[in-house]
Amino acid sequence: MSKRKNETVPYTLVIHGGAGTISKARQNEALEKEYKKALREALQKGGEVLKKGGSALSAVRVAVRTMEDCPLFNAGRGAVFNFQGGHDLDASIMDGKTLKAGAVANIRNVKNPVELAYIIMKKSQYVLLSGADALDYALENGLKIEDSQYFRTEMRYQQWLKARGSDHMFLDHDTPVDDKKFGTVGAVARDKRGNLAAATSTGGLVNKRYGRIGDSPIIGAGTYANNHTCAVSCTGKGEFFIRLVVAHEISSIMEHGGKSLAEACEIVFKQRLQTLGGKGGVIALDKNGEVVTLFNTKGMYRGIKKEGERDKIFIFDQ
Ligand code: ASP
Repeated sequence: MSKRKNETVPYTLVIHGGAGTISKARQNEALEKEYKKALREALQKGGEVLKKGGSALSAVRVAVRTMEDCPLFNAGRGAVFNFQGGHDLDASIMDGKTLKAGAVANIRNVKNPVELAYIIMKKSQYVLLSGADALDYALENGLKIEDSQYFRTEMRYQQWLKARGSDHMFLDHDTPVDDKKFGTVGAVARDKRGNLAAATSTGGLVNKRYGRIGDSPIIGAGTYANNHTCAVSCTGKGEFFIRLVVAHEISSIMEHGGKSLAEACEIVFKQRLQTLGGKGGVIALDKNGEVVTLFNTKGMYRGIKKEGERDKIFIFDQ
């Protein structure tokens, strides 16, 4: 039955902070607490938007921005180092109601790449901008700019030293640095009007080179939202997610294959990605408020907020 005018649905927000070889043995209690606190803060800030009747789009923006500001995650402040010792940032956002999207790749010095992705979506005639010229667009639109020191964290630097000078490129969470497993961030939301949205932000892979771009800023690969189906944000080795167009494929299987969100995620993520040897995780939310979080790594930082229920924060168990 279709929704009557002014009728509302329960809001939902799901976030992730990356997946990887996060094992209980390596994650000490203090660090675990820090992560949980950071995830809770992002859930709370994004959830506040939804509670007040704000849009799913604003909620994912706020949740991702909160995690970009936290040095624990590989996005915004705390992003991984690239081959040259800098930080190249990728982000995207999509509105499930209008199918409008914005994204930015290989941007430097923009404090909140998700904000730039949003401005691109809102104000420009483009979907994806990249590199130094995209910085001009950020400046023209008055976005906050920081010097490279702002993005630097000692842990990330030490992580990069292990790979520096080699061709080795790895997931930030798969580094052997003790007790520090950080991640790409993402959020999916459904607001009280039933609109869906998704956003993802990352520093990409450690020691990435040649202008490498992962799935996070690629609409359909790392991020997708469509009110008729679902909202999806991915994390993991982006090359696999691009090849399988994971986020859009989940939506397509629901739309054209008549499958549920859980079935579509199972097909794309568990069967296809696994067959190719891809590693990572996905958070997804459908138009009925069903939530799926899946990962084939040891852990994935994630949180779920559902109207009228207690917030849930997880790192390990599926
Ligand atoms: N998906 C991101 C990329 O490939 C990395 C990650 O999720 O950690 O750039």
